[in-house]
Amino acid sequence: MTRKLEAWFARHQRPLPWRTAYDPYQVWVSEVMLQQTRMEVVLPYFQRFLSRFPTLSSLAAATEDEVTAAWSGLGYYRRARMLRDGAAAVRDRFAGTVPSTVEELLTIPGIGRYTAGAIASVAFNAHAPIVDGNVTRVTARLFGSDGDAWPRAQALVDACQSPRTLNQSLMELGALICTPRNPSCLLCPVRTHCVALLEGTVDTLPAPKPKQSPRELTIPLYLIRDRRGRVLMRRESGPLMNGMYHLPHGNAALFSEHTLDATPDELLGSFRHTVTTRKIEFQLFTAQVGRIRDSPGDYEWIDPDAMHEVPHPSYVRKALRLARLSR
Ligand code: SF4
Repeated sequence: MTRKLEAWFARHQRPLPWRTAYDPYQVWVSEVMLQQTRMEVVLPYFQRFLSRFPTLSSLAAATEDEVTAAWSGLGYYRRARMLRDGAAAVRDRFAGTVPSTVEELLTIPGIGRYTAGAIASVAFNAHAPIVDGNVTRVTARLFGSDGDAWPRAQALVDACQSPRTLNQSLMELGALICTPRNPSCLLCPVRTHCVALLEGTVDTLPAPKPKQSPRELTIPLYLIRDRRGRVLMRRESGPLMNGMYHLPHGNAALFSEHTLDATPDELLGSFRHTVTTRKIEFQLFTAQVGRIRDSPGDYEWIDPDAMHEVPHPSYVRKALRLARLSR
């Protein structure tokens, strides 16, 4: 079965930039970007990030702001900070060379079991299993069993010729053929081995996880501009949004009493924004500012044309587009 998967991948793989030279640094960046983000979204960001930080040493030497600015729009910014910290650890502890074993990779900040297996197998062709959503689904159907996917992935990688090819074939098969709904079993290279197809359980494997319904929120945002047209932004600190620039936001009374000596003005419009467990309706108001009460040092006036130079979440771009300050 593993031979068929490897042969299928050799013929049908999508041409992706990190599949040209299998450079360990590029494989690492791609795997981190692909966590929680779809391939078609990742591709332009990957190219841009690599042109900004072409080598591991350039990333290790970058400031947190530079890295999060280059990551702007991809979300889950903790990944970017951990990637930079990881690159610095490789520079300091492994003389700048990405290690090739799962055990060594697991000692690097931000690298867990999945990423260690992906770098070891895809970049170094080591016999290490990987398990993501695609591998879980494909192996559950192939073996006709649900539950922990790691033993199934291990059994396949133990039997294969090229772990690099095998692991990528499982992920690619999951993305292109063995999709969550309506898999294309007639086109599947391993359909004669598939227990779920034989037993008629394709639609029930793997069993879906119970879904949390997203929380709905309404958040007022305030667009405050100075005479030069610059926009007032607040640089947030905190574990999740550390270093990101946000528009002033919050309940109108609290906003004017506690944050800024400011008066909300006209409602410019609203837009919806979804993050993992929350559906947010942002309402964008213009506002006038008098005095900044709340940690004035955290606020900066940013020219809308220079917004790309500071790290900011994607809702800020939506707000600026709504205010016709960016395209
Ligand atoms: S035969 Fe169908 S269910 Fe089985 S692995 Fe192939 S695509 Fe998936």
